[in-house]
Amino acid sequence: MSIHVADSRGKSLFPTEAGPFQPDQSRQDVSLYQPANIPTIDQIKGDIAYKCVANTKRLWRDIHYTAQWGAIPNSTGMARLTLSDDDKKVRDYFVGEARSIGCSVKIDQMGNTFAILPGYNNSIPPIGMGSHLDTQPAGGRYDGILGVLSALEVLRTIKSSGVKTYAPVAAINWTNEEGARFTPGCSGSAVWATHMPISKFHSLTDSSTNFTMREALDRIGYLGSIPASHEVNRLSAHVELHIEQRRVLQDTGRKIGIVTAIQGIRWYQISIVGKRAHAGSTPMAQRADALVAAASIILFVNKKAREIGAVATVGVLTLDRPSSNTVPGVATFSLDLRHQSETLLEDFESSIRIQLDRLRAEAVKLEAARLELRMERIWHSPAVRLDDSVISCIRKATSHVVGDDLTMDMISLAGHDSALTAIRVPTAMIFVPSKDGISHAPEEFTSEEEW
Ligand SMILES: [Zn+2]
Repeated sequence: MSIHVADSRGKSLFPTEAGPFQPDQSRQDVSLYQPANIPTIDQIKGDIAYKCVANTKRLWRDIHYTAQWGAIPNSTGMARLTLSDDDKKVRDYFVGEARSIGCSVKIDQMGNTFAILPGYNNSIPPIGMGSHLDTQPAGGRYDGILGVLSALEVLRTIKSSGVKTYAPVAAINWTNEEGARFTPGCSGSAVWATHMPISKFHSLTDSSTNFTMREALDRIGYLGSIPASHEVNRLSAHVELHIEQRRVLQDTGRKIGIVTAIQGIRWYQISIVGKRAHAGSTPMAQRADALVAAASIILFVNKKAREIGAVATVGVLTLDRPSSNTVPGVATFSLDLRHQSETLLEDFESSIRIQLDRLRAEAVKLEAARLELRMERIWHSPAVRLDDSVISCIRKATSHVVGDDLTMDMISLAGHDSALTAIRVPTAMIFVPSKDGISHAPEEFTSEEEW
């Protein structure tokens, strides 16, 4: 995709026709005062009598050059786990390239990295473009990486075109979006958005190296000094370019998905403590079988999800010291719920809690068979509607570049850093096609022509 930053006939993305993005004051208080010695937005628009077109060849080269750090041998796959040595190398490259074009670089206490190209009015928080450079253990070259490197390419394009934007513009690498090494993911953006406390993530431990996340950040030199907080290190807006990870664009022959919403994700850990007992000598009526209780909850969740149009997945189920001739005493399982509506997710969660109460009450009736059931929510990426003002900027730009017929509105079914930034600043996302919808796999591919 060619990224048009601005042209003479008002097809401008940075700054927009309406001026820099006006953050929702209820979400973030941003001063937009006009210093006396810098031009107004209208004057800049008059000055910018040409357009910037991103160099897709340079972006293509960047994608494949940086793939050396974390490449899976003999494939196009990537294993660049967050805060690994390979992650350090690609971060260093990103920082070095950004500095070489005159960006200032800020690194926060979560290792989130902001490469900021100054504009005329640097009292305005930067307009951010971000995603992530980490991958799954067997991921591809595009998920997240395209978003960060294309943001860098936008900055290079602005710089090499001689354009100066009104507000500063930033390319951002968010730490640990994937959550493969330290779970859950979207750690950097969640802390920046003050959605979760930094202490929760800093103390997470990677079981294979025994490093805490804080130690891992420090080890590679990305434990920055500035607070990871939208209140201290502010942005005016956030835009994320990402591969679609489905095949809707491919199947409909479109080039661009304009993302209008991101569905919410809730993760739970459900644990059931029953009573370990002999498989032969314990009558059925006297059992507190943790696995049977787990199975009934899993079936309830599955049926309910179908009824209300949500998706629910139990991906991990473990029994404590299982044996084929012992009634299971302890069962623990994960639960992943997703839907576009927070209200519906809230109701879904409540209905599961009621089901647990019911099972508990039924077990109490049997004197010998008590069940302890616990449901803990361990992660929550909110369902968000993306910002109309940013969406309309993207619509104008994509209409100009590929035409309205080749774009479509979409909802993101996967989680992204933008779901977290959207809580605090006007945010939107752009999707480009994923070949055959493949993602989180070495076969992931998006061609240069799609940019
Ligand atoms: Zn991603």
